[in-house]
Amino acid sequence: MMLTIDNLTNEIDGKKILKGLSLSINTGEIHAIMGPNGAGKSTLAYTLGGRPGYEVTGGSATFEGQDLFELEPYERAAAGLFLGFQYPVEIPGVSNLQFLRESLNSQRKARGQEPLSGGEFIKLAKEKAGLLGLDMEMLKRPVNVGFSGGEKKRAEMVQMGILDPKLAILDETDSGLDIDALKIVGSGINAIMRKPGKAVLLITHYQRLLDYVKPDYVHVLAAGRIVKSGGPELALELEREGYAEVVAA
Ligand code: ADP
Ligand code: MG
Ligand code: MG
Repeated sequence: MMLTIDNLTNEIDGKKILKGLSLSINTGEIHAIMGPNGAGKSTLAYTLGGRPGYEVTGGSATFEGQDLFELEPYERAAAGLFLGFQYPVEIPGVSNLQFLRESLNSQRKARGQEPLSGGEFIKLAKEKAGLLGLDMEMLKRPVNVGFSGGEKKRAEMVQMGILDPKLAILDETDSGLDIDALKIVGSGINAIMRKPGKAVLLITHYQRLLDYVKPDYVHVLAAGRIVKSGGPELALELEREGYAEVVAA
């Protein structure tokens, strides 16, 4: 197993959110998590990423044989965990290219690898920007400042391509995307992550992203736990019948 989450419980500000969540992901697999608003989907992503304030109170998460919760957030990233967020931050004064090169080289350093030279980095950035149809000029601009929703998501997928993670956890990557952007982002995810040795956890409200990134497994998260798992057909069933119906069944 690449990632094994066992009976995970957590709290934010003393409020219990995850209530015994278990989930296992093998290399080569794409898993989708769907679920109603407030179920704890983003909380799961933040908790795995190590966001401050998301206190683990029980259970475990093992990533590539390591206890994830023993690692600092930057160590989790260096170990190959990538988190894509629902609301990407803007960083005025720092260009995308500076930011991307800095994140890549700090991860390489944490793994004991040499930094990429300027030339090597630009070559890599061009290749990944090309996959997402993002102009290099966009990457010279400050991180996310003045970017449309679709451009932010594409820039984030360029970041994912450059960092080349083992496991990508993508939280509502489809939110705010029109159909064209959805296609581009979907094919970007496939190009970057549909490879041996990699896996994806896609968190989404809607089935439409799953038309482009076909999941091997679909899980329903409700009230802090995985309450149902199935194949891709489960996403269609959820879309047709609603969460309440499927969860009660
Ligand atoms: P989802 O992503 O499935 O919509 P979230 O993980 O964002 O759900 O939220 C799960 C629950 O945790 C909700 O009841 C939400 O109000 C609560 N919650 C999320 N973030 C915080 C926070 N920073 N402080 C207090 N409660 C929070
Ligand atoms: Mg939500
Ligand atoms: Mg959320």
